[in-house]
Amino acid sequence: MLFKKLIFILFVLFLQTQFIAAQDPIPPYILTAGKLPQLAYSSGEDRLGSAKMGYIDTSVLMKVIDTVKNLYKVQLSASRHAFIEKIYTQPIDDTVLPIALCESWRVKGGDEFDSVSFSLNGRVPYKSWMEINPSRIKIELYNAQSNINWITQLSSGKTVKNVWYEQIESDVLQITVELVKQQHYGYSVGYNGKSLLLKLRRMPADIRKMTVAIDAGHGGTNLGASGINSGILEKNYTVLFAKELQKILKKQKIKVLMVREADTTIDNKDRVLWAQQNNPDVFISFHLNSSGRSDAKGASTYYKHIGYRSFTQSILKRLLEIKNLEEFGNIGSFNFQPIQPTEYPSCLVEVAFLSNEQDEKMILDPKFRYKVAYQVYLGIKDWVKQWK
Ligand SMILES: [Zn+2]
Repeated sequence: MLFKKLIFILFVLFLQTQFIAAQDPIPPYILTAGKLPQLAYSSGEDRLGSAKMGYIDTSVLMKVIDTVKNLYKVQLSASRHAFIEKIYTQPIDDTVLPIALCESWRVKGGDEFDSVSFSLNGRVPYKSWMEINPSRIKIELYNAQSNINWITQLSSGKTVKNVWYEQIESDVLQITVELVKQQHYGYSVGYNGKSLLLKLRRMPADIRKMTVAIDAGHGGTNLGASGINSGILEKNYTVLFAKELQKILKKQKIKVLMVREADTTIDNKDRVLWAQQNNPDVFISFHLNSSGRSDAKGASTYYKHIGYRSFTQSILKRLLEIKNLEEFGNIGSFNFQPIQPTEYPSCLVEVAFLSNEQDEKMILDPKFRYKVAYQVYLGIKDWVKQWK
């Protein structure tokens, strides 16, 4: 009996060693690669994936310290780490990772956008975020030290009030870009050679000078939720709301870009790539909500970045003027991919619940769909006026 037990234990140990051997070896270093590599704060997962730190440019070198499922845990600086999906990395065998030095900065205005360039002698990891009251863009450079003694601020840079930095840890450099306007209006961060370049969008003076991107959620093989009594599919109705808004905006001579008008399958990542390429002034994504609780009902709007909260509040406020449409809420830090970009203000609109009988009835009514689209238009208009 004891002998049999021993054989069994040895067999289990043998299986374990085979399993470990079958796993990929961890590379010592990686370079970010592919389209839209993204850093995350944790390896935690819900249906939207772990909490996102933000997109990062390609060819950024990082040390790998662990592997968790489909993620690498990477070192940003001595005391900071992040997670990145393995598909967005390229392994590097052996290398040295010297601390990069940040040197001169330059703020200037251009034809389409203002820019702040930060010269560096290597591509280091970074993250950026928005702050409000006062409105600021913060950038943290990891594995980087200040050698800054020259910051040029040209008066052509209309959106930037001031820039400065603080070396908050011996290898973490924190950059503050204070904005002239109270409202955030979109920026991108990425490398231009070895220099990090922050591009800032200028706010149009009038809603008629804006380009509005409209995203009808789901489509094709991605059906979305379905109606509790009617069985209607979310993908077929998001496009109806999108087309109503398209009609209203066109009538107002506002330029519209549609992610889809037909029943096509489009990956959420491709929606982001499409929007970044087409450079809209604002991005509206229509969805219809669903819950296991049939009493959950009402309209909700969602944002990822705090700087865009006011945009989603402005739209929700107008939606709640619709008779019998209740409030489900204004929801932030939402990790839904189409609203992750910092490049333009975006708002995910969950019009109402397909899983609630009263809400479903309203969704089926063409007059309600027109009203929703019209109120979204008014919400955009209010917001533009407010921040002039
Ligand atoms: Zn949806």
